[in-house]
Amino acid sequence: MSALTRDPEYTDPFSTPGRWFRGNTHTHSAVSDGRLSIAERFAAYREAGYDFLALTDHRCVSDVSPFSDRDFLAISGSELHPRNPFGGELYHLVALDVRETIESRGRDANDVIADVRAQGGHVIIAHPYWCGHSVVDLMPLEGCFAVEVYNDTCARIGKANSEPHWDDLLDRGRPLLGIACDDAHYPDIDCFHGWVMVKAPDLTRESVLGALLTGSYYSTMGPAIHDVQIVDAEGSASGGEALPARKVVVCSSPARAIACKAQRSLGRRHLAPEGQLLEEAEFPLSGAEKYVRVEIEDERGRKAWSNPIFFGDRWSAISPR
Ligand SMILES: [Zn+2]
Ligand SMILES: [Zn+2]
Repeated sequence: MSALTRDPEYTDPFSTPGRWFRGNTHTHSAVSDGRLSIAERFAAYREAGYDFLALTDHRCVSDVSPFSDRDFLAISGSELHPRNPFGGELYHLVALDVRETIESRGRDANDVIADVRAQGGHVIIAHPYWCGHSVVDLMPLEGCFAVEVYNDTCARIGKANSEPHWDDLLDRGRPLLGIACDDAHYPDIDCFHGWVMVKAPDLTRESVLGALLTGSYYSTMGPAIHDVQIVDAEGSASGGEALPARKVVVCSSPARAIACKAQRSLGRRHLAPEGQLLEEAEFPLSGAEKYVRVEIEDERGRKAWSNPIFFGDRWSAISPR
């Protein structure tokens, strides 16, 4: 296997067959501290054109099965708050696809994550910037599949964006995917601004959760990512032996900037010339990248984030999996 082979555990959403589904993974109702009833919350997202929504009230799980049908998927969940002995405030962990309420007060975070997984559920690290968390708090967490790169309700204090937290964890070998979400509490101000576009064969719980877990989606505040591919570039040599060089090719909706990021100082950002917008960009790879991920920024400053493409053998050297 060459050093730049995609990790086969993850799915490329842009080439896998299926349909795109729009969803939000983090929402509250009046059952905890949200301002809408569960029924009103599901109705609002459905009306806004979403295909699925996870209800994640603090410390409790509600039965959301009445809100699922052929055209809409309701996912049960909860937001859990185990103790943090590493200096930061309490953890905020989003648990998806759990059925029973899990006690998290005063408990060890990894025990709580293990309980979620024992129910067949999946854990997302919520809004680390808003929590004041750093890698000191986040590295001890085991068994989470994603981190919220964008959380809209946190925009109210200007801390919606947790890109550096995600990158720090990736650089230290945590194979985490990124999630954009609303974390909706109000009827309007923190709704419909951050979501995921999931590529799945159909709108069933198994398909959508399977696509989320294998990275078959991208996250966005509005811009569309049409394609991110690793392709052969022309002529190059490496270590005295001629090898095909590779490059990342990105296609998106019109963008003010397109960036390709890898560990530490690797990567590049292309900025559109004044008065113009980009719809594609290319990034030659040095061969040293352990992963790459792509960010799009449109004229209004709204962003979209691809998931990392992990390069199998290089990534496994730093990943604890
Ligand atoms: Zn929270
Ligand atoms: Zn929340």
